[in-house]
Amino acid sequence: MSEATCKAAFLLGFLTVLVIRIYFAQQVKSSKVKDDRKTIPEILLLLLSVLGMFLLPLVGVFTPWLKFADYDLPGWTGWVGTVAFGLAIWIFWRAHIDLGLNWSASLEIRENHSLVDTGVYQYIRHPMYAAFWLWGIAQVLLLHNWIYGLSYLVSFVPMYFLRIHLEEQMMIDTFGKQYQEYMTRTGRVIPKLSQIAG
Ligand code: SAH
Repeated sequence: MSEATCKAAFLLGFLTVLVIRIYFAQQVKSSKVKDDRKTIPEILLLLLSVLGMFLLPLVGVFTPWLKFADYDLPGWTGWVGTVAFGLAIWIFWRAHIDLGLNWSASLEIRENHSLVDTGVYQYIRHPMYAAFWLWGIAQVLLLHNWIYGLSYLVSFVPMYFLRIHLEEQMMIDTFGKQYQEYMTRTGRVIPKLSQIAG
């Protein structure tokens, strides 16, 4: 796959994710929050991830400013990246549908919040973050540049490791045993072997 096609595939995926996110953000706007657990480090990491996930790739694709950090990858990696991005988009979209009005960009519990353990959530507890991992890998394979190819993973990885424990603790505080049981049945971002085996 040529450099230009890789960039086009990335942009298409990028725009699709953006449309899905804007649509669902509108849906939850009127749903009130009863427990807000945003912290300053989380807000700072969220801003860093906006830089790595959105701004740097767009600067890289549309301007020559970061060209000095380009590297080459064999053409087939573009196809792997496209498949990974496609899978990420599908999981991301399904997770939004399953989570419905319980979704928040940050750590929050809404009024009438319910624990979702169906749809993609019956296999893994964090399908959106699984989609973000795939997106990060896809970005490396589609944008061949040390800065804006890697920027997604560099900004998402600290965010993921900070957030995952706080989020699971918040869910345990809210849903108690119900969430703890759910944790025993499911993997975080990869399904448990026992589930795959049925
Ligand atoms: N970590 C999940 C959800 C990301 S959105 C994923 O990767 O798919 C973050 C918000 O989702 C959190 O603030 C929490 O309120 C909510 N949440 C996370 N898991 C949930 C679940 N199983 N059921 C209901 N709400 C959940």
